Amino acid sequence: MSYQNNFTLHETIIHKMKFLKWLISIFTPQRSKTKMLNIILFGPPGSGKGTQAEYLIKEYGIIHISTGDLFRYEMGNNTELGLKAKEYMAKGELVPDEVTIGMLKNKVNANPDAKGIIFDGFPRTITQAEALDTFLSEKDTEVSALIALDVPEEELVVRLLGRGASSGRADDMDESIIKNRISVYNSETAPVFEYYKSKNKSNLIPGIGSKDDIFNRLTTVINAL
Ligand code: AMP
Repeated sequence: MSYQNNFTLHETIIHKMKFLKWLISIFTPQRSKTKMLNIILFGPPGSGKGTQAEYLIKEYGIIHISTGDLFRYEMGNNTELGLKAKEYMAKGELVPDEVTIGMLKNKVNANPDAKGIIFDGFPRTITQAEALDTFLSEKDTEVSALIALDVPEEELVVRLLGRGASSGRADDMDESIIKNRISVYNSETAPVFEYYKSKNKSNLIPGIGSKDDIFNRLTTVINAL
């Protein structure tokens, strides 16, 4: 076959492939905003949310927003927001809702093309959950599911003290602050599980075992959505 014939054949194949792609696109519904994968990774401090979030963003090509990380970033840069958050974080208390919700919205708005979001450490109060639902519905999307990692309290304290020893994170190094964070979780944050349960969106999985085991439990829930 001559060079000219080869070239023509090549061009014809490309044209046919383009046509095929176009044809497929007509019959394949586009991933709309409502199809975003928005997961609330839920559980008490030390339940492994951050670790699993890192695996999940790789698996699903979505982004991870941790309000705790955002506050630590602001604190590290001595911003006004960081200084405000510091006084609450140091005691293991929750940063006020209006501050937290505003910061979360800014972060989501800064990622308009995200295919989905793992919310880690947010929402932590019913007010935050309601604000999140309203905010997402304004964007024509919603929370796909809440998945809670269930870990016994004694295990949480051991894990957090271990993490504090290696990271130097102040609120992980003091047992009384850790206990306060767990008690704040039980009184103010745990009701968020019930809030999404009433919308048939809450799931509880064991948060103990190997990282792979926990990841498999998470993907089983997500893949069934
Ligand atoms: P975390 O890294 O998620 O354990 O969060 C560390 C600290 O940041 C918490 O103990 C709170 O003081 C603060 N914080 C993080 N997320 C929130 C939130 N959604 N609402 C209020 N305070 C938060």
